[in-house]
Amino acid sequence: VIERHTDDSEYLLFEHLAAVSGVTHAVFTRRRGYSSVPFAGLNASFTTGDDPVAVRRNRQAILATLGMPTVGTHCVHGNAVAVVERDALVPAGPDDDPVERLRQRLRQQEADALLTDVPGFAFCWAFGDCAPILLYDPAHHAIGLIHAGWRGTAAGIVLRAVATMRDRYDTDPGELLAGLGPAIGGCCYEVSETVREAFAALPDAAACASFEERADVAGETGTRLYLDIGGSNYRQLLRAGLAPEHVEVSGYCTGCRTDLFYSHRREPWPSGRFAVAIGLRAD
Ligand SMILES: [Zn+2]
Repeated sequence: VIERHTDDSEYLLFEHLAAVSGVTHAVFTRRRGYSSVPFAGLNASFTTGDDPVAVRRNRQAILATLGMPTVGTHCVHGNAVAVVERDALVPAGPDDDPVERLRQRLRQQEADALLTDVPGFAFCWAFGDCAPILLYDPAHHAIGLIHAGWRGTAAGIVLRAVATMRDRYDTDPGELLAGLGPAIGGCCYEVSETVREAFAALPDAAACASFEERADVAGETGTRLYLDIGGSNYRQLLRAGLAPEHVEVSGYCTGCRTDLFYSHRREPWPSGRFAVAIGLRAD
């Protein structure tokens, strides 16, 4: 990944996506920004108790960095895929702001994957352990953003998103470029047996799941169960037909690197959320 910063934001770029003209993307770290401890500094979320004035300033910094408006659905840890079609951006009249209308509409919609081939706005969500997955189809100039926590991963959200791109854009998964952002790893994410059982319901997701049993708690007999969210989604991308050389991995575990990112699981509550965005430029 490539590291960049402005006066009030710091972000990572995937090398293969940064080389594509017409695509804007960023994985923002928590550095810079305006929030105070424990949210310090570029917290993108209003929902975990941060000062709204600071969050608004952070969001302004994120928008200024991206240079385009952002939209996002209501994430519910499911496997629903929302597609933004071309007619969504057609102005309804001289005073209409179609992007604002789209923003309001998507906010009411529950989905953890977003796809479009329409330029002029960026998909953006706030993350804190769930895997952010960015997709770009260079042949059909279509993008996707996925929010994959354990439930979405168990429900095969990557497989569904790639299948939807095949249907909608005639995407060849072998040509898709993917960026897998910071997510909680097996080093940090202890889960219950219920989680493993949930994966078993969908064999394709179960085959990709990266569980590990370890006896690494001092003074304890027996093992604990850990799940690697990033690794599980990496394998799901390959199972969906992506070429390994087209999948760029940030390599960061959010739990290990709370200096750079926010971690809902590893930080004492409350913690912030870091922003991840991808959009097609209109020019
Ligand atoms: Zn870790």
